[in-house]
Amino acid sequence: MVKIGVFSTKAYDREFLAAANDERHELCFFEPQLNLTTAALARDCEGVCAFVNDVLDARVIALLAEQKVRLIALRCAGFNNVDLAAARAAGMVVGRVPAYSPHAVAEHAVALMLALDRKLHRAYNRVREGNFALDGLLGFDLRGKKAGVIGTGQIGAVAARILGGFGCRVLAYDVVENQECLRSGVEYGPIEKIWREADIITLHCPLHAENYHLIDTAALERMKDGVMIINTSRGGLVDTGAAIEGLKSGRIGYLGLDVYEEESELFFEDRSGSILRDDMFSRLLTFPNVIITGHQAFFTKEALERIAETTIRNISEFEGAGSCSNAIEG
Ligand code: NAD
Repeated sequence: MVKIGVFSTKAYDREFLAAANDERHELCFFEPQLNLTTAALARDCEGVCAFVNDVLDARVIALLAEQKVRLIALRCAGFNNVDLAAARAAGMVVGRVPAYSPHAVAEHAVALMLALDRKLHRAYNRVREGNFALDGLLGFDLRGKKAGVIGTGQIGAVAARILGGFGCRVLAYDVVENQECLRSGVEYGPIEKIWREADIITLHCPLHAENYHLIDTAALERMKDGVMIINTSRGGLVDTGAAIEGLKSGRIGYLGLDVYEEESELFFEDRSGSILRDDMFSRLLTFPNVIITGHQAFFTKEALERIAETTIRNISEFEGAGSCSNAIEG
């Protein structure tokens, strides 16, 4: 039995992790986010279980290592919040959940596209107010449009397949071409081609130092007027200031975000009674052609079951072998 400090716990994490654990390991559920202040909560634990906005930089890792923590079990796919070099130097194993439900995220990306295109957020409010006018709700057919998928791993490949099903011509950019995508007619090319030609751009690549602010002013200048941009990957891929300017000029016609570069200060909590201090975020909320969801793309029953099962398996493998098959190499 391994003792694990589970950070950023919500009721749903507790429910799904406890069910998958079946009392194999000692799970200590902590509501706070993992950071320099809260790391001490894990003082008797051999491992920590962390989520997307938990802080696992060199300082937090050093503190955890002092406390004899040897495992970081991420209950997510992305690991941009972990200083892998620091974890390796501290002799820690970093496990993750590489694939839980690519469908959950890809389907949410497409939900954002359809809602923005057909202006469902506006239509919903109008009808509730007895306003059945259609002016301002004009959409476009997805069929025949060029959809650019950036990153065709697990999630991007499903998004490409769904978009192909709608009759889109799917363009893709990835550092590695996906054979399944190639077989289904996805056209790979340089990212430049996507900037120039795509009507819809959806991001499914991980965030790392080289692609931070992948969508910035220079990229936007090369895109089609009125382009739709969807980001369900990581907030840092989009320069929010540039996106706001792009929305003001009309270069961006539609923006769908499930992630935001400063989301750790906002998401996963009810802040409806507090003052929003993030002026960029507040500005984004004023545009009628922007839909933001609070990092919920992964949030389906199937995905939570898989996340919990894989996380518990990673912990059990660590207990047996001192490592796990889903360990990330630093
Ligand atoms: P994956 O590893 O299966 O695929 C990522 C793909 O991106 C790979 O094909 C890789 O070659 C490619 N890639 C890497 N660097 C690139 C670059 N600079 N430019 C273009 N392509 C690049 O990952 P996945 O499971 O498909 O997840 C993708 C991302 O989605 C994750 O990194 C994570 O950030 C995000 N995600 C978000 C949510 C959510 O709830 N919003 C949930 C899960 C994952």
